[in-house]
Amino acid sequence: MRIPVGRFAPSPTGELHLGSLTTALASYCHIKSLGGDWLLRMEDTDITRCDRQFSEQILLDLEALGMLWDGDIIYQSERTDIYNDYLQSALQPLSYGCQCSRKRLAQFWAVQEHQQQLNPIDKKSDRQRYPRCCIDAELNKQHHKLRLQLPDYTTGFIDGIQGLQWANPQQTLGDMVVRRQDSTINYILAASIDDGLQNVSHIMRGLDILPMTTAQIAIMQMVKLPAIERWYHLPLILNSEGQKLSKQNLAQPINTSQPSRLLATALHLLKQPAVDIDTPERMLMQAVSQWTNKPLQGLEQLNESGR
Ligand code: GLU
Repeated sequence: MRIPVGRFAPSPTGELHLGSLTTALASYCHIKSLGGDWLLRMEDTDITRCDRQFSEQILLDLEALGMLWDGDIIYQSERTDIYNDYLQSALQPLSYGCQCSRKRLAQFWAVQEHQQQLNPIDKKSDRQRYPRCCIDAELNKQHHKLRLQLPDYTTGFIDGIQGLQWANPQQTLGDMVVRRQDSTINYILAASIDDGLQNVSHIMRGLDILPMTTAQIAIMQMVKLPAIERWYHLPLILNSEGQKLSKQNLAQPINTSQPSRLLATALHLLKQPAVDIDTPERMLMQAVSQWTNKPLQGLEQLNESGR
């Protein structure tokens, strides 16, 4: 049996907010309740949006809350060569260069939509799928963005929170861009490779990533890295206006000046049994010993207020 390994993989495009904190806390408590290791990985491939200052702040916040990670922190921005090696080896036969701009694709889809209005009986096309204009163009892969053909079959997995899931990655994401023209590596490609190389066995993350999970399963198979054993997609936390807590919606950064209160709030939000207010370390120990996925099962949303 593999030692259970979980991870928290924030994109340091801002400070932690209550939404990202609950993801961190849930993955921490869950993997520790299984006696496993909790890794920390900074998903900072997009250097235009990520900032080292935010990474530093995330570390300080986690430390203030007593949520200490196991092993060394991985920074994806330092691992571009590894991702490119996979793109040039195992993933090479299924990738192709693409020169379609967003504008060109928008025009293509506008024409298609118009034709559908004229012929409503035609099967509705999926706007998200790339129409493969460049698949036979044999463009130089280094000088263009790179697309990867995802498999066109339905894959299922059991999600420990959301229940049985089925999806076809080709139908959902099409031939997705795995490396942008400016060489930035796509999130799910880097995450798939790193989860495999880090031997991650349990992934607990936000429900917003669920549409990419079968793509991740497919990529991990293509690169022959060990499969994730268990998946858990946490309900999204909504603010009082019903919007998802996110940096885009200007969610407030967490304030760790009262770490014990913050932990109690986050555990309450995650519908966990109450813990005694104590030092963060003791509260975490109690939270780990009481951890249960049950109250989250089947839920897609949680309210920031905890109600
Ligand atoms: N880096 C992603 C985010 O911050 C998380 C991805 C994951 O956990 O797989 O939203």
